[in-house]
Amino acid sequence: MAELSERMRALVQPHLAGIEPYDPNFTPTDINLSANENTCPLPEGVRAAVDAALAATPLNRYPDPLSNDLRDELAAWHGVPRETICVGNGGDELLYNFLLAFGGPGRTLLTCPPDFSEYAFFASLAQTEVERVWRDERTYGLKRDELVAAAAHADLVILTSPNNPTGDVVPLDLAREVCAACPGLVVIDEAYGEFADEGTSAAVLLEECDNLIVLHTLSKAFGAAGIRCGYVMAAPDVIDVFAAIRQIYSVNVLTQSAALAAVRARDAFAPVIAQIRSERERLFAALSQLVQATAPEGAVWESQGNFLLVRVPHASEVRQRLRDDFSILVRDFSYAPGLADCLRITVGTPEENDRLLEAFQALLNKTLSA
Ligand SMILES: *Cc1c(COP(=O)(O)O)cnc(C)c1O
Repeated sequence: MAELSERMRALVQPHLAGIEPYDPNFTPTDINLSANENTCPLPEGVRAAVDAALAATPLNRYPDPLSNDLRDELAAWHGVPRETICVGNGGDELLYNFLLAFGGPGRTLLTCPPDFSEYAFFASLAQTEVERVWRDERTYGLKRDELVAAAAHADLVILTSPNNPTGDVVPLDLAREVCAACPGLVVIDEAYGEFADEGTSAAVLLEECDNLIVLHTLSKAFGAAGIRCGYVMAAPDVIDVFAAIRQIYSVNVLTQSAALAAVRARDAFAPVIAQIRSERERLFAALSQLVQATAPEGAVWESQGNFLLVRVPHASEVRQRLRDDFSILVRDFSYAPGLADCLRITVGTPEENDRLLEAFQALLNKTLSA
C-alpha cells in the first residue's frame, strides 16, 4: 500500500497524515471468494426486472434525495414507518455519516475487534477515538461484562451481527443490555443478517431501544454489491440526522431503480440464501475435518454469515498458492491484529466450494508432507 508523499503529508489535515489508499489486494481469478459477495447469479426474473427498471429511469433529472419510493418498499417489508429508514450509498456511507454526525474530537467509539476494519478508519476520519473490547482470543466470542461496562461510558458503539470476519451473532439480550447501558447511540451492523438464523435480528428491539440503529445492505444476500445501496433503521429523530448530514444526491437514480426492483423481488432470493446457508454448513464440516486432520493448531469457526474464518499454518502462503496454482481468491487476515494465520473464505456456489475444498486438501496435504 502506498503511503502519502512527503508533500501531501504536510498538506492534508494533520489527523489524516497516516491515510493510505484502500487496497483489497484483488487479482483476477477464476473464483473470487474474497469479498463476501453473493457469488450466485441473480435469481431468475430478477435481473430482467432490474434491467426493465433501469431502462425506464430518466437520467436527466436529479435523484429523489431521500429515495422515498425505495424507503416505502423497505418500510412495508419490515413493517415500520418510512420515517424510521434512511437509504445510503452502501452501508459504508451510512457508517461514515454516523461517525461524522455523532463522533468527533473528544467522543469515543466502542468496537469489539477483530471486526470490520472500516469502523476504525471512519472513526479516524471523523477524529473519533476508538475504544476496543477485544473478543476472546480463542473463541472470538464477545466479552459480555467488559462490553456492557465499557458501553456505559462510550459515546457510540458499533457491534456486528453476524460479525465480519468471525461469523458470530450478537445475542439479543446482550444487544438490549448494551443499548440500556450506553448513553449515546448503538449501531448493530447486520450486513450479513439475512444469512443468520431466524430471530437473530436486532430490528425487533428498535421500538424498545430508541438509541439503537440497525444497518442493512443489498450488497451481500441480495447480490447487489455493485449498485451501492444500504439502509439504516432507527428512531425518527435519529433518521432526521442521517437525512440531514448526507450528501443529498449520493444515491443515484440507477441505484434507486435497481434497488427498488430487487427489494420488490426479495422473495425470489430465499432459495439462494438457503443454498448459501447449507453450503456454509457443508464447507464448515469439510474444512473442519481437513484442518483437524492436517494441522492441530488450525481451526474453523462456526459462522452465521456467508463466509468462514479458517486458521491454517502458513496462511499467507496457502492464500498465495490458492490464487496462483488454483485461481481461487480468498482474503488473507493473517496480518490483522488478533487474526494470526487466519483466512476468510466466502461461501460460493456448490461448484466453487467443491473446487475450493479440492484445492485446500491438496495444499494442506502438501504442507503436511513438506
Ligand atoms: C460489507 C459490509 C458492510 C457494508 O457494505 P456496503 O457494500 O457498503 O453496503 C457493512 N458492514 C460489514 C461488516 C460488511 O462486511
